[in-house]
Amino acid sequence: MTTPSDFQQLLRGAELRVTRPRLAVLGAVYAHPHADTDSIIGVVREDLGEVSHQAVYDVLRALTTAGLVRRIQPSGSVARYESRVGDNHHHVVCRLCGDIADVDCAVGEAPCLTASDDSGFSIDEAEVIYWGLCLSCSATKS
Ligand SMILES: [Zn+2]
Ligand SMILES: [Zn+2]
Repeated sequence: MTTPSDFQQLLRGAELRVTRPRLAVLGAVYAHPHADTDSIIGVVREDLGEVSHQAVYDVLRALTTAGLVRRIQPSGSVARYESRVGDNHHHVVCRLCGDIADVDCAVGEAPCLTASDDSGFSIDEAEVIYWGLCLSCSATKS
């Protein structure tokens, strides 16, 4: 379980000032992996009352830049945020309902980062998205 004091430490570790909106947004992202900005705003408002869209947006950007949250945006989807950072995991997205789940690297320690030909680039992330149908959508289709 991640507690409010853990979130304070995370913020301080990233040299970000501890503010209530930052704590609330971090908490929302930890509690709701792959949530989009609108659902994060909903959760934050339950916690803090009235908070502007722009304020939450700014906090998300600061947290993403600091590496505390990861932003993903499958094509056709709005940006989504998650707290699972730094392990280069991938995502599987349902073509029908847009549901997203985590997928670990195919084998072992982030092998996707070892490109067969890196053209001289120094690679730090491989973004792989698997597309398909989630369990409930494939059940209703058949
Ligand atoms: Zn689905
Ligand atoms: Zn994820």
